Amino acid sequence: MATGTLTIDLDALAANWRALDAKSGASTETAAVVKADGYGLGAARVARKLAVAGARRFFVAVAEEGAAVRDAVGPNAPIHVFSGHMAGDTDMLGDLNLIPMLNSAEQMVRHLEALPGHPFGIQLDTGMNRLGMEPAEWAAVRDIALAQSPVLVMSHLACADEPDHHMNRNQLRAFKEMTDGINVPRSLSATGGILLGSDFHFDVTRPGIGLYGARPFEDAATVVSLDIPIIQIREVLAGETVGYGNTWEADAPTRVATIAAGYADGLIRAQGPDGYALAGKTRCKILGRVSMDLIGVDVSHLEEDPESLRLLGPGHGVDTMADAAGTIGYEILTSLGARYNRRYKG
Ligand SMILES: *Cc1c(COP(=O)(O)O)cnc(C)c1O
Repeated sequence: MATGTLTIDLDALAANWRALDAKSGASTETAAVVKADGYGLGAARVARKLAVAGARRFFVAVAEEGAAVRDAVGPNAPIHVFSGHMAGDTDMLGDLNLIPMLNSAEQMVRHLEALPGHPFGIQLDTGMNRLGMEPAEWAAVRDIALAQSPVLVMSHLACADEPDHHMNRNQLRAFKEMTDGINVPRSLSATGGILLGSDFHFDVTRPGIGLYGARPFEDAATVVSLDIPIIQIREVLAGETVGYGNTWEADAPTRVATIAAGYADGLIRAQGPDGYALAGKTRCKILGRVSMDLIGVDVSHLEEDPESLRLLGPGHGVDTMADAAGTIGYEILTSLGARYNRRYKG
């Protein structure tokens, strides 16, 4: 068998939820963001485990993602949809009992006409300029909206992974200006905001990436491990090259292992020159370009030829791979391919 094994440690996931939950006070509810198929790890498995760990409220990006989560967590847990109430969503929102986070006056009209009496929340823009009502729009519809009893009012921080960024304080101030005095639960923070401290916690927090073991939650337990079988090992002489484009040339005799995964499995090409795999705790450099299904790795310095090499695991997580590729852990996680043999632990 040449497929790699992706191991998802659900106990570590639960531990990360509990650790983030412990960072806010008892009056703050810690929800869980399980969009994008649970950041690529399987929304149903992830949501069920988080529900057992204590999460009572979930967030997805689009209504379609609500189906798997609803199946996993049962009929009662609130599931919120960041994209709000889009045209064509009415039946899904109604049948699956999802809570659209309305982003505009237009969405609000659509929702109140299509699903009168059905729960909704409001998303406000406090400066990120991505989703939500801007201050003027909110001022115009606020009384109508509040008369319909929204279940949550939220906004999202643009720079929460940079604790000293002035944007955090500015958005906090804007959020308070727009929501102080309303009698509706409020939510501002994702993982980064939780780590900014209690001013940012309000009634509900919405961690995503930290649950899955990545920055900015530096103390997170490792959730994802990825082991790739070696198909063959060869001796390459000085002056010979490895892989497409001859981008790596041996300056000394080198043992090269060819492992069975590549960019079609989400191991993005850009990590090539700086990336490495692990044999136990020993680092092994990636040689040459990442191919679609194969990667060359230097195993010259190993005492024994291993049967597989590890690309992700404790101490060598998605952020390490992301750094080598000039991207972020979120992108590595959500790119993890469908071809792996997926094993859930815990
Ligand atoms: C993705 C997302 C989250 C979760 O963010 P993390 O950085 O992964 O913790 C929370 N809120 C909104 C609006 C999001 O889009």
